[in-house]
Amino acid sequence: MKFDLHIHSCLSPCANLDMAPSEIVSRAVAAGMDGIALTDHQSARNTPAIAECARRAGIKCLFGMEVQTSEEVHSLALFDTVEQALAMTEWVYAAMPKRVNDPETFGDQPVVTWDDDIVEMEWRILAMGCRRTIPETATKVHELGGLFIAAHVDRANHSVIGALGAIPEPMVDSERQPGGGRFYDAVELSRTADDAIWLPKISDYAVTRSSDAHNAEDVARVWTEAEGDFSVAGLKSIFAAKATRLSPRLTSF
Ligand SMILES: [Zn+2]
Ligand SMILES: [Zn+2]
Repeated sequence: MKFDLHIHSCLSPCANLDMAPSEIVSRAVAAGMDGIALTDHQSARNTPAIAECARRAGIKCLFGMEVQTSEEVHSLALFDTVEQALAMTEWVYAAMPKRVNDPETFGDQPVVTWDDDIVEMEWRILAMGCRRTIPETATKVHELGGLFIAAHVDRANHSVIGALGAIPEPMVDSERQPGGGRFYDAVELSRTADDAIWLPKISDYAVTRSSDAHNAEDVARVWTEAEGDFSVAGLKSIFAAKATRLSPRLTSF
């Protein structure tokens, strides 16, 4: 199966407004994806819409977000259900600055329906980090039954290696996560990362490549392949076996 685990909808302030859940799903189906994940910045409020679009199109979908923690690092939190993703959203929102978005500066943040109507504009600034740390966030994601993936670790900005110099590991027993014990279940390379340089640096981890699409043309331009079920449990066993294959990278952005 082929999957793209990092896609932004119009709810992300930096994403194009053409990124309606319906458009994301039709692009992913046309690109031959078996599974996708919706990962807006700090919020899963468009997951109910994409769940319905995915159901109608017969493509599998995981529901989550790209969390920006207090280290200014981006990590993906992925869940099997909309309810889990919305519970994660509540937990992140509770640690966000209570500042009202300025669309002129940061961009619009529409919450939409499956058939492209605007429900409301999210008022919080989703372009800002929350006060949760990586260990706290990993623990919350795993308590809720999700997957935690270090996003675009090859990038200098907002990546765990860029910010901390390495992928953090639990230092004390209380930080150990269920299963493997580590904070991250897998590590993501960006669409342009040079595999020959990066794969040796992260060989302790399962590796994914996803589009991080912010506009429709970029959905599933790169992807990950593996044999198994497209679900949290299925991906957990694929990651434990480090059994992923990456699509070719793009040599221009
Ligand atoms: Zn990011
Ligand atoms: Zn992203």
